[in-house]
Formats: sequence, structure tokens, C-alpha cells
Amino acid sequence: MTAARGTDGVLVDRYGRVARDLRVSLTDKCNLRCTYCMPAEGLPWLAGSQLLSDDEIVRLVRVAVRRLGITEVRFTGGEPLIRPGVVGIVAAVAGLEPRPRISLTTNGLGLDRLAPALRAAGLDRVNVSLDTLDAGRFARLTRRDRLADVLAGLAGAAAAGLTPVKINSVLMRGVNDDEAPALLRFALAHGYELRFIEQMPLDAQHGWDRAAMVTADEILVTLRTGFDLTPDPAVRGAAPAETWLVDGGPARVGVIGSVTRPFCGDCDRTRLTADGQVRACLFASEESDLRGALRAGADDDELARRWRAAMWGKRAGHGIDDPTFLQPARPMSAIGG
Ligand code: SF4
Repeated sequence: MTAARGTDGVLVDRYGRVARDLRVSLTDKCNLRCTYCMPAEGLPWLAGSQLLSDDEIVRLVRVAVRRLGITEVRFTGGEPLIRPGVVGIVAAVAGLEPRPRISLTTNGLGLDRLAPALRAAGLDRVNVSLDTLDAGRFARLTRRDRLADVLAGLAGAAAAGLTPVKINSVLMRGVNDDEAPALLRFALAHGYELRFIEQMPLDAQHGWDRAAMVTADEILVTLRTGFDLTPDPAVRGAAPAETWLVDGGPARVGVIGSVTRPFCGDCDRTRLTADGQVRACLFASEESDLRGALRAGADDDELARRWRAAMWGKRAGHGIDDPTFLQPARPMSAIGG
């Protein structure tokens, strides 16, 4: 649907794309140290005074849902489950009218313990990051020996009814790309929905190497050595993942080809960082400050107006293939998936 730039209603950009899916980063901190995301010592975390309070987050989500046409809310991080108020924030958002669909992207640590409370609070489903089934490799990739806790988190989410439980896997050449078939077999055996994601240039170290990235085409070739993949008849819409039925279905597998098969033309996402900045795109180099306006007493109309203005200027796409491409200063860990 296209919409004209207006002073009310939905978040539309100059290409006519309408944002319906709000990604909210609850913290920039994380309890893992994935090598493709941040250094072993972590990062200079956002100061507490910069972080939105639980009430401020709920207010901004309320503005987005009630005034800006947002129908999907995804909580991300860093690692959202380490935020003490996560269950309360989910409950408050689930109480909004109209009620948005609520999901959460997590590394799975602590999910087994929190899943029942999150479900009771109104969380609908989860995406869990898992790049390997080998405990030693997990410890090398994340610098923490916690594979068993992630697997317990997946099982806990399924048991609590946070379904479909989706798994996000990033494959890296010569690191874990040999595990694609095993990861799919694991997901099929447990009823999880697996999506492979091309590694994106969003790491804090700015060490992304396109040659080391495993492309969507390569992932499909590898999977087809062990599985019969047929196009999924389900309508994709603005969903990042292209999906295939596995061995005739109904199980499916997804591939998110952010770099080699960009889906920016149908993008329906807007992002709010843990320190109250609107990012029109994952790869945006500009941000719009809502925290300052909010703390200066802006009313909901003003917050909504600023959010619309921020989205109107959204670029056509990530521009990774553009010679002028510059990796955003803010790392993925402070943006969220
Ligand atoms: S890169 Fe930006 S425009 Fe493209 S799909 Fe992601 S958020 Fe949307």
C-alpha cells in the first residue's frame, strides 16, 4: 500500500513503503561475545542515563501502535532477556489497543527460565540465534561455553507455546558452513523453523569480509545435497526470509539474503534503539532523537510527527554494493535484528 506524506497516520517513506514492523532494542549489552559481532572484552556500553526507562519504551511503542499504524513489535538487544523489566514491558505492550503481534529475538540464555512468564505476559513467539550444534565450536564462536543453555532455551520456548520457534543461523566460510544440513535436520526434528542469514557488515570491529560471507545461493546448493527444496506457496510479503518447503513440506526453511538478495523494496521496518533513537534502516547513517524530545516534555503528537519525519527520509536500500557504502558507526549489538 502506498500512502502520501501526511501529518497523521502511518509511517511512510518517500518510496511509498509503509512501516508496520517496529524493532525495539531493549539494551546494547549482551551475555555472549560472538566473534562476528563484538570483541572479547565487550564494548563501551551506553550510559544508564542514556537508556530509555521501561515507561519511556512503553510510551514510544504506544505512540507507534496507536498513532503510526505499527502492527508488529519485535524486542531485540544486545540481548533483551538481560533487561530486568523485559516481562513487564511485554505485558504493557500486550495491553495496547489495537494489540500488536509481539515477538523477541534472543540468544536463548535464560529463555528456559523466562519463557512461561513471557508467554503469560503476552509474548507471541521468539527467534533464537544458533550458529552451531557443536559445544566446542559454540564456545569458540561466542567465547562462552553455553550451548546447552541455548538448547534448553529453545525447548523451554516451545514448551511455553512461544511458537513458531524460529532459529536464526549465520554461516561463515570455513567456520560453521559445514553444519547447514545438520542444523536443518535438528530444526526439523524439533519442529523449529530455521532461517539462514547472510552475514552483514554490522560488526563492531568493522572486520566484515564479503569473501568470507556464505551467500544465499551457496546455502541453497549445500542444503539441496541432502533435502528436496521446493518454493513455498505462502506469500512472502515484507518478510526478510525467502522460504522453501523441505521434502514436500509442511516444514520449511528460510534464507535471508540481505546482501546478495536484498529485499529493501518491500521493507516495512522501523527501529527504536535502547537510547531512544529512530533508525529508518538497519544500515542508516542518520538517526532521529526521540529521547531528548520525550524528556523535554513533547506530547504524543510531536513524538509521532518526529517519527514520521525520520521515516520519510529513508533511503531506497542498504547500498552495500554501492562504492560509497559506509558501515554504520552504531554496531548491530546496539541496533538489534
Ligand atoms: S537494509 Fe534497510 S531498507 Fe533494506 S530491508 Fe533492511 S532495514 Fe529495510
